[in-house]
Order: sequence, then C-alpha cells, then structure tokens
Amino acid sequence: MISEIKTVAVIGAGTMGQGIAQVCAAAGFQVSMFDVNPSSGNTAKAKIEASLQSLVEKNKISVPDKNAAVARLHVIEKMEDVRCDIAIEAAAENLEIKRKIFSQLEKTLPAHAVLTSNTSSIPITQIAVALGRPSRFAGLHFFNPAPVMKLVEIIKGAATTEETVILLEEFCVKLAKQSVRTQDSPGFIVNRVARHYYVEALKVVEENVASFSTVDSLLRATGFKMGPFELMDLIGIDVNFAVTSSIYHAFHQDSKFRPSRIQQQKVDAGQLGRKSGQGFYDYNKQHE
Ligand code: NAD
Repeated sequence: MISEIKTVAVIGAGTMGQGIAQVCAAAGFQVSMFDVNPSSGNTAKAKIEASLQSLVEKNKISVPDKNAAVARLHVIEKMEDVRCDIAIEAAAENLEIKRKIFSQLEKTLPAHAVLTSNTSSIPITQIAVALGRPSRFAGLHFFNPAPVMKLVEIIKGAATTEETVILLEEFCVKLAKQSVRTQDSPGFIVNRVARHYYVEALKVVEENVASFSTVDSLLRATGFKMGPFELMDLIGIDVNFAVTSSIYHAFHQDSKFRPSRIQQQKVDAGQLGRKSGQGFYDYNKQHE
C-alpha cells in the first residue's frame, strides 16, 4: 500500500538521479542516493540544494520546505547499506550494469521493496532476468529535467504484477506526476517516437544539408521548445547515443534507428553535452 511507502533509494546520481531524488525528497520521502563514483553523491546533493534554492528565489517553494527536502536527502557510500521501500535505478543505459545493480539490491532490500529502472529503452523483461522477484519490478521512466517534466512512463514487464503497477501509479500521484502505462517494448512510447527527431536531424547535418544550429533554430521557429541538438546536449550525447543504439539493436538493425557517426565521434571525444561543458554547443561560452 502506498501509505506504507516512506523511503526511496536512487541508484546513480547523474543527470536523472539528481532530478528524481529532488522530486522524491520534495514530495516528503526519505531519499538515499548511491553512485558508483564516490564523489557523485555529494555533488548531486549540492546540485539539488542549488536547484531547490532557485525555486525559493522564484517563490515556488518556501525556505522551510527547501530545508526539509534537503534534510531528507542522504548520500550512501556502499550499495549494501541502501535500504528502501522503492528503489529507482538511474545508472548507465547498459543492460549488464542494470542487471548487476538489481541482483545486488535484491540481496539486501526487504521482500516488500519495489524495484524500478529509469531505463530509456532497455526492455524491462530483459533486466528482470537477473531477479528472483520479477513480480515486484517495473520500469519507471522519468523525463529530463525530472523536476519539471510531468510525465512518467510505467512499464510492466512480463512478470510485473498488477499490484506493483498500481502501487507505482499511486507513487506517481504522490510525486505530482502524470503516469502512463506502456507495454514492454524497446524505447516504450515517447523515446521510440522521439528517436526520429534526433536520427533524422543528425542525417541532415551528416549530409551537409544544414548546420546543427540552423536545424535547431528552424525547429524552434516551428514550435518545438528545443531543437534536436540542444536537446541532445541536455540529455547527454552518450546517453542519447546509447538509447539509439539499444533501440536499433532491439529492432533487429532497422535502418530507421541507425545511430550516427557524428554522435559516436562526440562520445569518443568526451563531448557529452551540458554535463561535460561541451557538446554540439560550447557551454563554457554563451549558448546562442
Ligand atoms: P548520467 O551519465 O548523467 O548518470 C549516470 C550515473 O550513474 C553516473 O553518475 C554514474 O557514475 C552512475 N553509475 C554508473 N554505473 C553505476 C553503478 N553500477 N552503480 C551506481 N551508479 C552507477 O546518466 P543519466 O542521463 O542520468 O541517465 C541515467 C539513466 O536514465 C539511463 O538509463 C538513461 O537512459 C535514463 N534516462 C536518461 C534521460 C536523460 O535525458 N539523460 C532521460 C530519461 C531516462
């Protein structure tokens, strides 16, 4: 029952882990954050505090509410010390890494705990192979930035029970998010449809039809909030590339999802977007 859910653990304290931890702490849950990189947990906590402070400055939350949310955030140094009622994994978009995390979590978490993955594209049923209790495992896919974007996709794997899905729907209500159920299919709904926004834009640049900044400004002028290249920089080019690659392979190398060499080169160069300071745009300079 949702009334018994008090504690949340977020595994992976990068772009998404930070946003999800902020949302859960602001909604009143005690939140543990664990990251394999020892400094990332404290960096994430500082970034969340800054993000909540900016909400205070915009009069969206009060100072006591900000302080209470920050006090509910706990950085955990060893994964075996994580305890929670709901775990949300937001680590790298890699099947083996995710399977390993869940099989470790299952050893230490209580049997009532619900385990979820924020994967953008990997079928939930494939991750669940590592689990002894796949009935209590589902996809819980937040969008970036998690504190702003209302939608959460709830993905039911082959063994996920209806009870687990209902609990996650109620959890999303507590987080003030709008949830939608989706079947377990590569990329689920939004990322599968949105893939073409990136893939086709990259082809336009690869074929020298137009520059990436021209593509961005044209798409913004037609009503999109962000052009595909600035959006890839926000998402993380490595994450976006991993998601496209995962969907491409899952659909048996369907050419319409083929990843771009431009993205591969950016990843090789460590130009990952906003999080590394340089992606398609240079964030050390003024973003035009
Ligand atoms: P990120 O690269 O910003 O952060 C990932 C974090 O996970 C890093 O801090 C890394 O150190 C940590 N990590 C890696 N392996 C780990 C492990 N074994 N245990 C604990 N921590 C580990 O990535 P992100 O953008 O936050 O994406 C995380 C997940 O969320 C991915 O599955 C991604 O597909 C998904 N997602 C991303 C977006 C987006 O726009 N970036 C949106 C929705 C979903």
